[in-house]
Amino acid sequence: EKRNAGESEFLQAVREVLESFEPVVEQNPSIIDTGVIDRIVEPERFIQFRVSWVDDNGKVQVNRGFRVQFNSAIGPYKGGLRLHPSVCASVIKFLGFEQCFKNSLTGLPMGGGKGGADFDPKGKSDGEIMRFCQSFMTELSKHIGADTDVPAGDIGVGAREIGYLFGQYKRLRNEFTGVLTGKGLSYGGSLARKEATGYGLCYFTDEMLKNMKNDSFKGKTVVVSGSGNVAIYATEKATELGGKVVALSDSNGYIYDANGINLDVVKQIKEVERGRIKEYADRVEGAVYTEGCRGIWSIPCDIALPCATQNELNGEEAALLIKNGVMAVAEGANMPSTPEAIEAFLNAGVLFGPAKAANAGGVATSGLEMCQNSMRYSWTFEEVDAKLHDIMVNIFHNAYNASKKYGMEGNLVAGANIAGFEKIADAMIAQGVAY
Ligand code: NDP
Repeated sequence: EKRNAGESEFLQAVREVLESFEPVVEQNPSIIDTGVIDRIVEPERFIQFRVSWVDDNGKVQVNRGFRVQFNSAIGPYKGGLRLHPSVCASVIKFLGFEQCFKNSLTGLPMGGGKGGADFDPKGKSDGEIMRFCQSFMTELSKHIGADTDVPAGDIGVGAREIGYLFGQYKRLRNEFTGVLTGKGLSYGGSLARKEATGYGLCYFTDEMLKNMKNDSFKGKTVVVSGSGNVAIYATEKATELGGKVVALSDSNGYIYDANGINLDVVKQIKEVERGRIKEYADRVEGAVYTEGCRGIWSIPCDIALPCATQNELNGEEAALLIKNGVMAVAEGANMPSTPEAIEAFLNAGVLFGPAKAANAGGVATSGLEMCQNSMRYSWTFEEVDAKLHDIMVNIFHNAYNASKKYGMEGNLVAGANIAGFEKIADAMIAQGVAY
């Protein structure tokens, strides 16, 4: 705790994982002597750098950029880039730490990393975004590569930003490689990558409902928070699987539509116009907008899918969801539920899919994009989607079986942590104490 003083998000993530290792240590006390637990919580490398760029008024702006290369035991570092004013060392380290276990769970050979900057893309012109991305990549390019570290998108980094980052990398290095994922289809992107996290979340949730409650999305009322990439495609798949999504949000407020969200309107507002979710209520009759994003958890629902950001659902909000009869919660965002919320769900017998497992579809499909780039070949949408589905089903069963093996049947938080850990620990031990 002293070594990472003040890094509250990172400490929260590490605490949760270490708690779930207790039964593993009880069954295999010798694991302590390998030092693997001490090593796994310390990043292999942490890079912080200045990003200066010129805004539209000719003024020089300065941001802080980061890349954490957390663990490369099972493959090249892999994890997204986040552009948001809240980005700091603690946030990047918590995300990088979680990413290691998530990537391991996918079954693909990917280590863990994460990066970003405290740059706020809101209200910036296209030219400003491009200049920022070029400056950011000028430094980042010294540390990444198709076989070393492969970044992707996250909050504030979508297809446009990946394009500018890729263009700058190519200009600096004079090589066309799969150094980033989430690329456009015309230059090496994978079909179904855009949809993957949201779709994967619903495949995982469906498998969890089927195996643990003999149930499905059919006829269920669903609340999804956020209205970004993950939220939009979770809404699309939940609807396709027979659920009715009645709410979406952004950091200002939420919309409620008792008839079920009209996703064409949402896509027009968010993906084409880059507008605010509030505008939905102006365009769809009967829909209501309420200021304040946290009120979304007061809407009664059967399934809740938090898809916005970390710590967006606390203990009180969890209690409200439980009181209103929620049966399943699955995390599309990273660490959206506070420890108090998770405890409340587990104690109440609500099915709970933790982020590491439930939102791994995005990085899994990034892994499939790397695979296609290496082969210089592209699979069809259906081929990628089918592989994604299989991966999510496997992740559920791996997490569930690990929870059973260590006497916590159905606790997928512990199950996912343990299943992800076992493969990394095995590889680290096999490779010796290198660093
Ligand atoms: P986007 O930038 O596309 O969307 C983020 C959404 O969350 C927006 O609606 C945004 O609203 C909202 N949001 C951001 N910060 C806050 C906040 N402090 N309070 C309330 N709402 C907020 O990001 P993604 O959809 O890609 O990512 C969402 C989450 O999913 C993140 O936790 C990310 O790490 C995680 N994730 C994403 C993956 C992917 O493939 N994209 C993969 C795995 C996890 P506003 O516009 O008002 O900021």
